[in-house]
Amino acid sequence: MEAAAEKITRIGVLGGSFDPIHYGHLVTAESARVQFELDTVIFMPTGKSPTEKPGFATKEGRYQMTLLATAENHNFAVSRLEIERQQPSYTIDTLKAIRKEHDENSELFFIAGADAVLEILSWKDPERLSGYAQFIAVTRPGYELKRFQEIREEKPGIPNVNILEIPALTISSTDLRRRIKEGLSVRYLLPDSVIEYVKRNGLYS
Ligand code: NAP
Repeated sequence: MEAAAEKITRIGVLGGSFDPIHYGHLVTAESARVQFELDTVIFMPTGKSPTEKPGFATKEGRYQMTLLATAENHNFAVSRLEIERQQPSYTIDTLKAIRKEHDENSELFFIAGADAVLEILSWKDPERLSGYAQFIAVTRPGYELKRFQEIREEKPGIPNVNILEIPALTISSTDLRRRIKEGLSVRYLLPDSVIEYVKRNGLYS
């Protein structure tokens, strides 16, 4: 009798500052989960923003908001991996660490804004990256995709990039910070639990 094939776990890793997290990010995670048949999506808040820069949240604050926003979805998880690193963190190191945590029978998908994906592919060991993950670049409608084609021509051997267009990404963290600063309503643009956290901690004002 043939041995049953082992199930491959498909893991999405969604990188971003999440300052603050909003429905565009949550819709992105859910769309990627469905389209790429992911078992789980791990939100990975970046560690890089300076802790006490005025007008921005701390690393811990961004992590807490991401936890609140994802709490009700059992397919979503949040990682402290990057916020706990002292040095600037590169996606390749994050992917290596996640690969180490999970068994052989898993497949990784790194999901981030299209500009970030371009940056990763053009800067940091693009040929080695494909050994760790597939890439999903998320874009707002109307984003110029020509640069992806150019990069592929300049650097043969870079990983294949899947493009995911998310209309809900017309919501942006930059615009939300501005709206909060100006006292405008942000209701229905991000979860109520995150709005409460922002108010309680006097963020962005
Ligand atoms: P960011 O400052 O949060 O985002 C830049 C732009 O992309 C913003 O317009 C943002 O919209 C959008 N975006 C980012 N992440 C998104 C997501 N997950 N879903 C939807 N839209 C998203 O982030 P970043 O600095 O570009 O970094 C994104 C990821 O790429 C991080 O995981 C970072 O570590 C990684 N990265 C790695 C390298 C490297 O290894 N060399 C270089 C650059 C970036 P909002 O402002 O509305 O979120």
